Amino acid sequence: DLPKQKHDYQSDVARLRKIVVNSLYSHRDVFLRELISNANDALEKLRLTALTERGMLEGAEQLNITIKAVKDEDGPGRIVITDTGIGMTPEELTKNLQGTLAKSGTTEFLQKAETSTDTTGTGNLIGAFGLGFYSSFLVADKVYVASMAAKTSKNPEPAQYVFSSSAEESSFEVYPDPRGNTLGRGTEITLELKDDALEYLETFKLTDLISKHSSFSSSFPVYLHTQRLEDVPVDETEETPEAESPAPESDDDDEVVIEEATEPAKEEAPKTKTFMVDEWVQMNAQAPLWTRDPKTVTDEEYEAFYAATWKDNEKPLAWHHFTGDSGSGVSFRAIVYIPSHLDESYWREGLEGSNKDLRLMVKRTFITNSLGEDALPKWASWVKVVVDAEDLPLNVSRETLQSNKFLKQLKSIIVRRLLQSLTRIQKEDKEKFDQLHATYGNVFRLGAVEDTKNRDTLATLVRFPTTQRNATSLDDYVENKKQGQKQIFYLADMGKSESDLAKSVFVEKLHARGYEVLLLGQPLDEVFVQNLKRWKKLPFQDVAKAGLKFGDEDLDAEEEKERQKELTEEYQPLLDWLKKEASEVVRDVVISNRLVASSCAIVADRHGYTANLEKMMNANNN
Ligand code: ADP
Ligand code: MG
Repeated sequence: DLPKQKHDYQSDVARLRKIVVNSLYSHRDVFLRELISNANDALEKLRLTALTERGMLEGAEQLNITIKAVKDEDGPGRIVITDTGIGMTPEELTKNLQGTLAKSGTTEFLQKAETSTDTTGTGNLIGAFGLGFYSSFLVADKVYVASMAAKTSKNPEPAQYVFSSSAEESSFEVYPDPRGNTLGRGTEITLELKDDALEYLETFKLTDLISKHSSFSSSFPVYLHTQRLEDVPVDETEETPEAESPAPESDDDDEVVIEEATEPAKEEAPKTKTFMVDEWVQMNAQAPLWTRDPKTVTDEEYEAFYAATWKDNEKPLAWHHFTGDSGSGVSFRAIVYIPSHLDESYWREGLEGSNKDLRLMVKRTFITNSLGEDALPKWASWVKVVVDAEDLPLNVSRETLQSNKFLKQLKSIIVRRLLQSLTRIQKEDKEKFDQLHATYGNVFRLGAVEDTKNRDTLATLVRFPTTQRNATSLDDYVENKKQGQKQIFYLADMGKSESDLAKSVFVEKLHARGYEVLLLGQPLDEVFVQNLKRWKKLPFQDVAKAGLKFGDEDLDAEEEKERQKELTEEYQPLLDWLKKEASEVVRDVVISNRLVASSCAIVADRHGYTANLEKMMNANNN
């Protein structure tokens, strides 16, 4: 056995613990969800490893999570959360329970947490940055983690160790469990509650918390320890029977309290005694949510499942729950969620798709949430999905999954269903669609550029500000066109605001004549129109480029041409002079009919680069 080892937390970890404890007071409830979700992870790891490690489950077949509140006579109360999962070796206790620093993003989290006034945002950060275990210190002064690693070929004789740490100290200890091996396998977390957190000892509080936030955190049974009084008739000639508890684990500190029946026994009535009976109540007895008939699932349940599964405290914008068939004979059930926000890293990460939030199950058993780089196209990679396939072999490896036909089909089915949901919201719920577009507008643009198969559907979802409206779809633009209008007019200048774009000299004449002009200031706008080329047969026309045609041209064409000729003659000397003076900068100087209030404009060649693209190319060359 190793001697008791004392470790100092790395300095950022100490800081981190302080922040978690001090700034997240109003989010204290999350601790239970985090610990249950860790227990669930440990059980999932065990189940996966057991597929290849024979004998791993021997002697401890049960896979479950138990939660027990203990009111101590002396000192604070405790909450004990136990799982029969994969467990941790002493090295893993040391590394994993303080090791969040090694994960990228911690420093970023610290900055955020220290400057954040938005408490809901901070609550989200806990999950997003993987600080789950630290949430223990929200409610506990002292935390003990006893763990017994599973028996494997690499670790044939594991021993039970304890990690202990208190909220105030800057160090923690790891030592052999003085009680010996009490767990068989798995992890037992004991929280010594703070004085102001004793509410968590109450059964109703725990029940409420678990059913609200945690009933979906585990696909394994979660049992809560409760006690109730029961009157049991006693035959004086017999010994009192021991109160039996259907506990999923044996509990050696049975605290059966025996009292005399309160009412004085009447002569005839049979004698009873009141017992405190221990009971383990399963908190997640319902079938997994995605296997249920959508008609029987409430919005609150969908939202709770979402929050528990993806650790997002913000409600999802929408979801779609359906049964499908891959076409290659694999039937499955799935729920596709649309989060109300994009991960901050979304635009920072490369353009290749990568989806960490697609949870693949086979027959209700979790298999993986990393389907590899090409799981979904980038534009759709933010979607949160749970898929449960019926007919795949349970021991599919990642490699066979990648080449599996089912996954390819699944991918396109999910994209199709997602598009259906988005389109439905657009049609049916204006307010929600506005919210959706505010978050995903640029994602739709990206999709229209990268996903040629779904280009039209995605383009339909994009909204643009114009000279006449705050936001229009391409369909509405075409609907609103003037008689005879043969082009879709736009002005693109990356990074410019709508009002700046609207002031542009290129827009004046069109606006004055009653034409609507799309004002494109988003980075992806210009690439978008160039890839689309036309909409409802109308080509896009950059109003800053030559080639502009007015639809009402024919009406005053003669007049206009005449006037143009006169003006050109009149101003010929000026034009010649300007052309000579500016010969290094411009190719030609002409009289224009485009302008109303401005005196001149520099126009890009019909086939040349626009000023905007030129800017982008120059930026790339540097
Ligand atoms: P995360 O779950 O995001 O990895 P946590 O802080 O919640 O972060 O947990 C840190 C690590 O500690 C886990 O990744 C896991 O390796 C280990 N761990 C925590 N709880 C348990 C448990 N009940 N059983 C086994 N390992 C655990
Ligand atoms: Mg966790």
